[in-house]
Amino acid sequence: MISHKQFFLQNTAQTSNFPRLLEIEKAEGLYLYDTKGKAYMDLVSGFAVSSIGHRHPKVIQAIKNQLDKYLHLTVYGEFVQAPQVMLAHQLSSVLPLTLSSVYFTNSGAEACEGALKLAKKYTNRSHIIAFHQSYHGSTHGALSVMGNEYYKQAYRPLLPDIKFINFNAGADLNLITPHTACVIIEAIQGEAGVQVPDKLYMQALRARCDKTGTLLIFDEIQTGFGRTGKLFAFEHYGIVPDILLLAKAMGGGMPIGAFIAAKHIMDALKENPILGHITTFGGHPVSCAAALASLHVIIDEGLMEGIAEKENLFRALLIHPKIKEIRGKGLMLAIQLNTFTEVESISKRCIENGLIIDWFLHCDTALRIAPPLTISTLEIERACAIILAAIDGV
Ligand code: PLP
Repeated sequence: MISHKQFFLQNTAQTSNFPRLLEIEKAEGLYLYDTKGKAYMDLVSGFAVSSIGHRHPKVIQAIKNQLDKYLHLTVYGEFVQAPQVMLAHQLSSVLPLTLSSVYFTNSGAEACEGALKLAKKYTNRSHIIAFHQSYHGSTHGALSVMGNEYYKQAYRPLLPDIKFINFNAGADLNLITPHTACVIIEAIQGEAGVQVPDKLYMQALRARCDKTGTLLIFDEIQTGFGRTGKLFAFEHYGIVPDILLLAKAMGGGMPIGAFIAAKHIMDALKENPILGHITTFGGHPVSCAAALASLHVIIDEGLMEGIAEKENLFRALLIHPKIKEIRGKGLMLAIQLNTFTEVESISKRCIENGLIIDWFLHCDTALRIAPPLTISTLEIERACAIILAAIDGV
């Protein structure tokens, strides 16, 4: 009999020659369970998605309720669909007044695509500023603003008129000019290995964009929905972006993303041409119902309240001569080691010992720590013990 693993390798498109090849049968809260019933603590939350834990009962209930009403009805932006409308309204009620118009997408990359188009259309400019070491997704537009040539070279030509500047470097802000349509920046650079910018830098960036009439796009696809201890990371900096990108944790495990802007900006997609951005499935009613339930869980269950203490506990426990630095904010952390060989063998040992951990696209010398926000003190202690034992073993 052919196993699932064989079908996976034969019939499921492969993106590397060394997939993890774990087969998970069930997931609940912090834990994944393989086909033999072995439990794994998910310290990466399916890459910053399962922030409220896997299969949160309130999300499951919301999905079930919506299944009994309708699935897909029509293309985006035509019918009034209660799950979409309620989610958009709830999001705008927890965001600053200017971020009141929500365009729903299926993914983070699509949110990025829509936002870049919106900025060009609204400003009638074509130039874009992005950052070295950034990641915004893998579609052509998102890849064009990715700050790592290694992943781009095979796919050129990409979008023109894009300049890359250094993250958190005030001197480079002068490269933002009255020709710049938008600056796209991660609130904290994730795939660069969790690089946290200075508050003053972010404020200077905001001021420069204001001066040049440039739209400031904040990619909060990893940082959003409580991961850094605030509902959205821009709150740490005391500034408000013009366009906010969301995805990943937004759907409580269901696929959904969004770009959010002021209504007068978003209205640029309505005319000249009409239907400036189209999606069939964006804002799928089941995903919207799940996202609304997930947002309620984060807020009503106060999931952000203990994040700073949880961060401190990780920092206090993860002390080892091989650990050079712990970077990050809240439960978006990087354990900086020395080499990829170390990172790879520590990850392997952790997985053997029931803990899922990984590294970063642009930084393979650091381990990624992004557990569900619901992780308990005891679970953090257990997780750190597994990580330290794995580091000891290399
Ligand atoms: N932006 C950031 C900061 C991300 O981390 C990611 C995914 O890792 C994306 C955008 C792309 O999101 P998606 O994979 O849903 O297209």
